[in-house]
Amino acid sequence: MGNKIYDGNLSDKMSDEKILTAIEWLAEQMPGGFFIYRADDEQEILYVNRATLLIFGCETIEEFKELTGNTFKGMVHPEDFDGIQASIDKQIADESNDENLDYVIYRIIRKDGVERWVDDYGRFTYMPGFGDVYYVFISDITETRIAQEQKERNEQLEHLLEEAEQANMAKTAFLSNMSHEIRTPITAILGMNELILRECKDEHILEYSRNIKMAGTSLLRIISDILDFSRIETGRMELVIDEYSVRTLFLDLYNLVQFRAESKGLSLKFEIDNRIPSVLFGDEIRIKQIISNLLTNAIKYTERGYVKLIVYLKEVRDGDAYIEITVLDTGIGIKREEMNRLFEAFDRLDAKRTRTIEGAGLGLAITRHLLSLMDSELSVESEYEIGSNFSFVLKQKIVDETNIGDIDYSLLARQTREVHSNQKFVVAKGVRILLVDDTPMNLQVIKGLLKRTGMEIDTATSGEQCLMKIGATKYDLVFLDYRMPHMNGVETLDEIRKRYPEFYEKVPIISLTASAIAGDREKLLNAGFTDYLSKPVNIEEMEKTLVKFLPKDAVTYEGEESAALPEEASETDELPKGLKSISALNLNKGIEYCGDAEDYVFALETYVKSVDDKASVIENAISSGNVEDYILNVHSLKSTSAAIGADEISEKAKELEALAKSGETQGLQEKTDILLNEYRSLKVMIEDAFKE
Ligand code: ADP
Repeated sequence: MGNKIYDGNLSDKMSDEKILTAIEWLAEQMPGGFFIYRADDEQEILYVNRATLLIFGCETIEEFKELTGNTFKGMVHPEDFDGIQASIDKQIADESNDENLDYVIYRIIRKDGVERWVDDYGRFTYMPGFGDVYYVFISDITETRIAQEQKERNEQLEHLLEEAEQANMAKTAFLSNMSHEIRTPITAILGMNELILRECKDEHILEYSRNIKMAGTSLLRIISDILDFSRIETGRMELVIDEYSVRTLFLDLYNLVQFRAESKGLSLKFEIDNRIPSVLFGDEIRIKQIISNLLTNAIKYTERGYVKLIVYLKEVRDGDAYIEITVLDTGIGIKREEMNRLFEAFDRLDAKRTRTIEGAGLGLAITRHLLSLMDSELSVESEYEIGSNFSFVLKQKIVDETNIGDIDYSLLARQTREVHSNQKFVVAKGVRILLVDDTPMNLQVIKGLLKRTGMEIDTATSGEQCLMKIGATKYDLVFLDYRMPHMNGVETLDEIRKRYPEFYEKVPIISLTASAIAGDREKLLNAGFTDYLSKPVNIEEMEKTLVKFLPKDAVTYEGEESAALPEEASETDELPKGLKSISALNLNKGIEYCGDAEDYVFALETYVKSVDDKASVIENAISSGNVEDYILNVHSLKSTSAAIGADEISEKAKELEALAKSGETQGLQEKTDILLNEYRSLKVMIEDAFKE
């Protein structure tokens, strides 16, 4: 190195002094920080450039000296100094570090007291005139460092989120699998139980069996909720849009919940706007699910009072109907502070009161999601201990704008009863079908349920067995399960097509599948199935399929033996027993008139209340000679008596009405006395029956 301070190509152009001035000038111009300090214990700063001053927030060298004591140690944040000094010493001592370079990052404290991060590229070297020094390039990296830290934090969060999502997906997959697994045996249990209900005559066992049905159905409901929920979580919930009849929708809903309300002693009211178009376009099944969820909740969480469904046509615009649907109850209500947890999956409110009420806390989470798929939203108003009001507006395309007209809910009851009492079933003697399902119990259930059709039913428990049977026997129809180990339904179908093309051409092959997800139907039909049925199989659906695909002359209908029993016989059983011994009452006629047993009882109560008044009004009319009043009241007695099945009294009243109208007064008093006597004693008899 010699005596020159600089050995580069400037040295032959200028003197050392000039070079130093030139370098200092350059250093002052540099945008990055640059400084030199002595490599001894004092670490005195020999030079700092202007950019370094700016990093420290100083205007002048004096300010900088005051801030740092003009030492390197004074430049570094006191908490960081020992650490970086050790690191610098270590890096310089490293023998592989030929260039004596070091790199450290530390905090500084600016003149205004603000902490900043800097990085420091240093070099340990000998400088003529000064001895051992470090020269350092320094820059403020606070912003990059914050960005870096933020990035790391984000990455960490993303990672955590991913983990949480994975865990959540695992949970959802688990739930979905579990529900599938549970659904299979529970449907077998319910199916077997259905056979007991059908075939057993022992009232005790039937009672147990009805309990199994109730508990099993509620378990199945929970399982389907979990399945729906897992579909939502995995984004597989889709709507299936089609035309549907509004009237049928409400009939079904009424049917679904009526029994539950009645058995809790709640009055269930449907107020359905008669202007609603009769055929709409939407997902009927999911709409039914939404409304029945709300109605079932209302019934579950109400002890006393009523549950009401109000359906109101808000407007019709551009071929769409905007329908407001409200479910009201007079139940336990929801505490204001718990309202925000209403839609949390698996969360149930007011734990003390709801613990004993069946439910998994999924209904509203599902309802809300289904509504969002329909571009709608659920609004809730509720007052604790008073009741709740859930409502939403549904926009549906109109297919047929004819009004649905009035649907009287007692009429609904009668119509649904007719459906049951007219129950006919399919008979297909001489027909041979093949049932394929890997669960033997399912086979047994379906076979049991189809027994009444008189068909010959063969079974197979695998695709392979199915192929063997098809090869050996002639069948008129095949029900083929989709989910089977080894060969699933579609694979089996492909084999049938390959091996027995003639059979495939001629014989309907119906797929049985547990999943009813949108698009599945198309998939199965595309795969070559004639049709598909969803599991758990509904026997009526199965029979409908038989009618659809078997040759016309192979199928006939027959009335069910038990349904052939007079329907009224069971209806009158619901009445207070004492009523049966009142010969003046035709109970069956009364029930028919009023719709059902419950309404009949209500009519009888009203009738009884009016007897005394009406009787004395008639007496007064006859004694004061007020014929008009007489006719009016006898007429009313005639009709109200007919409405409760008090036929004789009604006949007598009719006779007297005619007599009075004809002006014939002979014997009127006497006959009236007899009528009113009977009228009053009927009242006493009905009251006694009620008392019992
Ligand atoms: P589940 O009824 O199965 O518990 P939901 O998701 O349908 O689940 O409802 C969540 C919770 O909201 C219920 O547990 C209940 O505490 C409350 N809730 C729902 N509907 C009503 C209602 N009509 N009246 C009072 N509380 C209700």
